[in-house]
Amino acid sequence: MTRLSLDRLNKSYGDTLAVRDVSLDIAPGEVMCLLGPSGCGKSTTLRIAAGVERQSGGRVLIDGAVVSDAACHEPPEKRSIGLMFQDFALFPHLRVLDNVAFGLTGHGRGERKRIAREYLDRVEMVDHADKYPHELSGGEQQRIALARALAPKPRVMLMDEPFSGLDNRLRDEVRDAALSVLKEENAAVLLVTHDPEEALRMADRIALIADGELIENGPARQIYRAPERRFTASFVGENNMLSGTVSAVAGDGVSVDIGGGEMLKVDARGQSVARGDAVALSIRSELTRMDLEGGASVQPGHSMQGIYREAVYLGLTTSHRVTVGDGHDMVSRVVDDLDALPAPGSPVRLYWTPGALRLHIS
Ligand code: ADP
Repeated sequence: MTRLSLDRLNKSYGDTLAVRDVSLDIAPGEVMCLLGPSGCGKSTTLRIAAGVERQSGGRVLIDGAVVSDAACHEPPEKRSIGLMFQDFALFPHLRVLDNVAFGLTGHGRGERKRIAREYLDRVEMVDHADKYPHELSGGEQQRIALARALAPKPRVMLMDEPFSGLDNRLRDEVRDAALSVLKEENAAVLLVTHDPEEALRMADRIALIADGELIENGPARQIYRAPERRFTASFVGENNMLSGTVSAVAGDGVSVDIGGGEMLKVDARGQSVARGDAVALSIRSELTRMDLEGGASVQPGHSMQGIYREAVYLGLTTSHRVTVGDGHDMVSRVVDDLDALPAPGSPVRLYWTPGALRLHIS
């Protein structure tokens, strides 16, 4: 079942094509994160879904009914959507309870207050019901904004960088609280973010967008563990990226010449590649291991020679920077259990288990 459907949306501003043929389906209870770098068309897509912007082409459907196409355009207030933005301010002159009750049209005064209280309780802010917004912290204000957006029971929740204004520690707390309330409500959620960590933390599915175009769309875990496209691998997680040329194809595997005398083996199942093709390879830094002993744990085709550069301590893990054959840096990010670090300039081998290296043909 699809709650919100974006069907081949296009949007141009003069010569700029901000959104190109974007299609997305979101089910009730599903959190979809629209993820991509700044200026790639995320907010424009969300504003079209909300109805505050009208697309140049394509359709928006909610529960199978068209709410916007070339012929019709329902305004935001008719669409049963909740909105939450980074700077979507509360009404400063209204108390918290009245802020949340504000959008609850179609109910009597007592009932509006009862519902507002219920939602304040859900975001753990009911004790602040009689305060004014300026008496609350940024995180508390965002909780109120969430309660206000959810109280009318929207079918669709649209959130644009809702946590960006909060500092790190508070952000995690507010995100987790928001996620559990959103899950209870069963709305379809479209959340825009430029932060891959936020997307991984919040999303059931992640849709990657670059230059107005949808690049890849899949479950969050799949996007992280098995990115298909080169852009996805370089944008989500910390991936070491390599480029090379296919030198041999044998069954499901190919050999890729990455220069400097290194030939790597990679699984190419489901991908169409031929000898001579230029391809990209990626491997997550936390799956890249470092061998200091001269290669006992290393399998041919699943390792490469490098020069140790430095360690960067990150607390839980340590990033070891190693320069490989063609002169570029790779990172092995692991829990530091080394007795002694290699001296800068000393030779090391990077290796990985077969399957950790991924092939990207686009
Ligand atoms: P994002 O949310 O990913 O940062 P936006 O959707 O805000 O990106 O913008 C996508 C592109 O469209 C950008 O190049 C931006 O400059 C352009 N754009 C967005 N809104 C307008 C507008 N109202 N007028 C002209 N250009 C716009």
